[in-house]
Amino acid sequence: MKKAIHQRLLIWYDIHGRTLPFRGTKDPYRIWVSEIMLQQTRTETAGGYFLRFTQRFPDVFALADAEEQDVLKMWEGLGYYSRARNLHKAAKKVAYEWNGVFPADYEQLLSLPGVGEYTAAAVASIAFDLPCPAMDGNLTRVLSRVHGVREDVGIPSVKRQLLALAQKDMPSKRCGDFNQALMDLGASLCCPGTPDCDKCPLKSLCDACREGDADLLPVKAVQKPPLEIEMAVLIITCKNKILLSQRKEALLKNLWVYPLAEDVSTETEVKTPLGKMGLIPLSITPLEQAKHVFSHRVWHMQLWHIEVEEAKEKAGLWFTYEQMQSLPIPTAVKAARAAAEHILAPEVNFLPLQEHRSLICDTARVYCESWQHAHRDHATPEMKKEYTPVFMEMILRSHLDSEKAVYALQANGQIAGVLVLDKKENELCTLYIRPVMQKRNIGTKAVQFAIEQLDRHRDMKVTALEKNPHATHLYQKSGFTLPSARTLLNKEYDLWEQILIRPGEKE
Ligand code: SF4
Repeated sequence: MKKAIHQRLLIWYDIHGRTLPFRGTKDPYRIWVSEIMLQQTRTETAGGYFLRFTQRFPDVFALADAEEQDVLKMWEGLGYYSRARNLHKAAKKVAYEWNGVFPADYEQLLSLPGVGEYTAAAVASIAFDLPCPAMDGNLTRVLSRVHGVREDVGIPSVKRQLLALAQKDMPSKRCGDFNQALMDLGASLCCPGTPDCDKCPLKSLCDACREGDADLLPVKAVQKPPLEIEMAVLIITCKNKILLSQRKEALLKNLWVYPLAEDVSTETEVKTPLGKMGLIPLSITPLEQAKHVFSHRVWHMQLWHIEVEEAKEKAGLWFTYEQMQSLPIPTAVKAARAAAEHILAPEVNFLPLQEHRSLICDTARVYCESWQHAHRDHATPEMKKEYTPVFMEMILRSHLDSEKAVYALQANGQIAGVLVLDKKENELCTLYIRPVMQKRNIGTKAVQFAIEQLDRHRDMKVTALEKNPHATHLYQKSGFTLPSARTLLNKEYDLWEQILIRPGEKE
């Protein structure tokens, strides 16, 4: 007698079933989370997210008690964020209405937000061994081929027919394994297009294989093409801050995005949404284009960088680079995010002035501007007058003459600061960043660069004004410690400087 479908499948599954991070558990919480993730995400991608998510929210209570923003942040990159919002709502229901216990009941599972027939059946069968076929794309394809169903599988009566066939094939035990075996068969051998029937355990029972039309099954009606939308993505910055707003629309709801404007394609048109936000642009620059495909629409995005005069609150919330990192920002705008990060925390090149003497004048101007800004509250009027670009150029030239290493810091193609190192004394002598380029991570990169250039195995030295806690903090972040010694620079201005040491590292 021929073995039944389920017998063949389970033997095959025991040998060839996939090893996945969410397999081998009967914990309904973990099965539910993985099945929600797998709804619109490839299995290979979902694995890493699943481990990260369940580490952060190890049980249904942890998820129920979390802030929605934290849940969305952990979901970042998976897309289809309504899944995460529903997961959070459902966790609250299980935790607070069902005392944290998932019911071994298909209908009750189906009542949870975001749980459809497929997910309820997957949890019911895998966690509780209930005979519920989990009709996803893989099961639909395999069963329509095996049973020779040649009608549109989108028609409700055909769906019901396939479900009834799956129920008939379902064994009395190992119901979860049966579903997973069909999923794995559909993912490995009975794949879309031409299947690998020769290796298939169901070959001798399969109608489509016999008829030679497996590549035409399942039959699906032609879907409507997605809606194509032209979208301007406005990366609006004011000094070191960027404007983001939280979506109210159903698509990407509660996620943070850069201001979006439909049907805006020229610089003049960009001014309209800016005007509505009360923003006055200093510059408007077109950046690259990007595209994101949702299930029913496609965004064709043109990115714009707009620097504005004032960070008006009316326009929305403004964030620094570091603050932006903690927000849930959807993958749909990942190109804009990369561009924003480049603007807020640009790549920094360190150009040695020994080799780039033509940059000395520009670097001296930046040095002067930065020095005047840093010392605006505590330099004497005489000093402020004396420290001109010409004077700064003389200082830079004297550093070069005395064989100090002098660098122009270049960020996004512009001179952003100056760095002077004394390699003999193992000292970071000077570091200034242009005011407009500050808080963009350039200072941290410059200190790291300095540490690489100097000798890590000897004590390193840097001097900072006591009245400049930002500078002190910057050096401390990179391992400099604050000794108690300080030197009085100017009594009238109560100006002290302090020396920070980075102890030499052991070999
Ligand atoms: S025999 Fe071929 S078409 Fe039939 S289930 Fe197996 S792989 Fe799919």
